[in-house]
Parts: sequence; structure tokens; C-alpha cells
Amino acid sequence: MKNKLIFRLKCMAVLLSVLITIVNISYISGWHDEVLQKVKLRDTISEECDRKTAGNIVRDIKKFPVAQREAEKCYFDDGYGASRTYGGERKHQGIDIMSADNVTGKLPIQSVSDGVIENIGWLKLGGYRIGVRSKSGIYYYYAHLDSYADGIIKKKHVKAGDILGYMGNTGYGPEGTKGKFDVHLHFGIYIDKKCKESINPYYSLKYIENHEY
Ligand SMILES: [Zn+2]
Repeated sequence: MKNKLIFRLKCMAVLLSVLITIVNISYISGWHDEVLQKVKLRDTISEECDRKTAGNIVRDIKKFPVAQREAEKCYFDDGYGASRTYGGERKHQGIDIMSADNVTGKLPIQSVSDGVIENIGWLKLGGYRIGVRSKSGIYYYYAHLDSYADGIIKKKHVKAGDILGYMGNTGYGPEGTKGKFDVHLHFGIYIDKKCKESINPYYSLKYIENHEY
């Protein structure tokens, strides 16, 4: 009697674990497809790198780069890869989030992810920029800022949602150059060192716009 009960319990346990495995497999593959769709990585990156990077980006990005209370005051479209001429012929390596009223120093820029401030300061192309490296190794680049938020310095650890600075129109010249173009944030995502590529942040931005957490 006791043996029968143990046998039945064992059978139930086996069935249960098979069921859990099946659910897990379908969940994971579904999740991967969803991730790839969200991030829509460039075809040039290997499949293996795509999946790993896509997963990292989806885990990293918790916030839209413009603080949510102001996010309706800006707009963006898919300008990744568009040609640029300043500083030589090149491709646009990110997405421009434009200020609707074109007022400089107003819209707060927040970190999309947790990470460490790896670079801060002037770049001829990027103006006042900040680069945040997440734990996964991905580099998030914020350019043309009007100013930096208090306490934002190199090597500082930031959390997603921490204010980095304010949207501006700096760049395209020596330090302090302003007003060469409309007020916007240039947001870029550079993937880990092994891949050495930027990816198109458009789809991640589109997703996180309505799914902040
Ligand atoms: Zn740009």
C-alpha cells in the first residue's frame, strides 16, 4: 500500500518536471523572439552576438532617456544610418530625440540603465556628452547636452532614472559651440568590445517609451 503511494507520487513528480521543462523551453524561445523583435539588431552582427546583446539591452534599459514627465515634449524617428557630413562623410550612429519647443537646457536627460560614467566632457561632434557603461558591457552615449546635472562626474555609479544633464544643442566645433542645429539628444548604443559596433536604438526607444519600469 505504502509502496503504491510512493510509486504514484514519483510518477506525479516526473510528470510535473516534464511539464515544467516544456513550459520553460517555450517561454525561453518566445522570450528570445520577443527580445530580437524589440531590439531589431543589425544583420551584420553574428546571430550569437545578436541574442546575447539583445538580452543585455533589454535587461539594461529601464527608462526612456528623457525623464517621463517631459517625454511628451519630444519626438524622434528612425534616423539611424542617415548620412552626415560634418567631420567627414559618415553614417548617423544613433537616434536624435528632438525637443518640440527647441528650448535649450530644459528637458532633463536621465540614464536609461544602471552603470558607471565612463566618459564626460566635450567632443567636437558630440558637444557635452556622457557615456555610461552598464555592467553587461554596453555603452550608452548621450550627446549635445546643454549642461550636466549636479554631482555627475567620471566613474560615478548611476541608476536608471538618475538625471545626467539637460538637453541642448552643443557640438560641431570647439568647446562651448552651441546652436549649430536644433535642440535634441543624440542617443547611441555601442555594444560590447568584442563586437565593436553601434546598433540602432530606435526599436528599444520605441519599446521603452511606453514600458518604463
Ligand atoms: Zn544624432
